[in-house]
Amino acid sequence: ATVQRLDKFISHAADLPRSQVKRLLHAGRITVNGTITKQAKLVVDSDDDIRLDKSRLIQARLAYIMLNKPTGYVSTRDDSTYPSALDLIEGHFHPPLHVAGRLDADATGLLFLTNDGQWSHRVTSPNHQHPKTYCVTLAEPLSEQAIQQLEQGVMLHGDERPTLPAQVEQLDALTIRLVIQEGRYHQVKRMLAAVGNKVMQLHREQIGSVRLDEQLNVGTSRELSQIEREHFI
Ligand code: URA
Repeated sequence: ATVQRLDKFISHAADLPRSQVKRLLHAGRITVNGTITKQAKLVVDSDDDIRLDKSRLIQARLAYIMLNKPTGYVSTRDDSTYPSALDLIEGHFHPPLHVAGRLDADATGLLFLTNDGQWSHRVTSPNHQHPKTYCVTLAEPLSEQAIQQLEQGVMLHGDERPTLPAQVEQLDALTIRLVIQEGRYHQVKRMLAAVGNKVMQLHREQIGSVRLDEQLNVGTSRELSQIEREHFI
């Protein structure tokens, strides 16, 4: 268990500035293992029962997880039709996990889950632009002309600017690998619709330089390594 000063623990767990923590301590509103304490410098660890006005304070543990998302799961928490991909992760997280970079219910592959809002902002914000790689199964073979259009950028229905240039790699007659630079709503499906085709299956392989771990079976997850996590800094 990690040890630290009581005031630091409270400041992190309750998300309060140290000055306010000091006042709470002085006012006798903090207990450690059932005893009121006013000592800011008391050394505590994560097993200690630390409470503010009787409610237990829990050490924040930031988590960075990659999931191989199955079909039939959504990226949000409350959906009336499908269960949430967040339910596939075991354990309790404080603050709660959210998805960084959505994937449609019928899509599979690399999905990041975290409870670090700053990190997920860096993953998804258009200012950071991490390319995303998809394996796409199509309804019809792509024409040369369609490939060129995708590579140059296409106008999506309802949008004001064309998409940024994408990379297309033909894998077999009905399968391509597509690398896109942005993350617009249903972007891959809308890009293929814009060139007169249709996405039958969509699988995300990579975000930035982080690839979906091939050891991960569908529906399973693992924590990102420090190197993978720090790619988004
Ligand atoms: N593009 C889509 O159309 N759907 C996704 O889930 C991701 C990218």
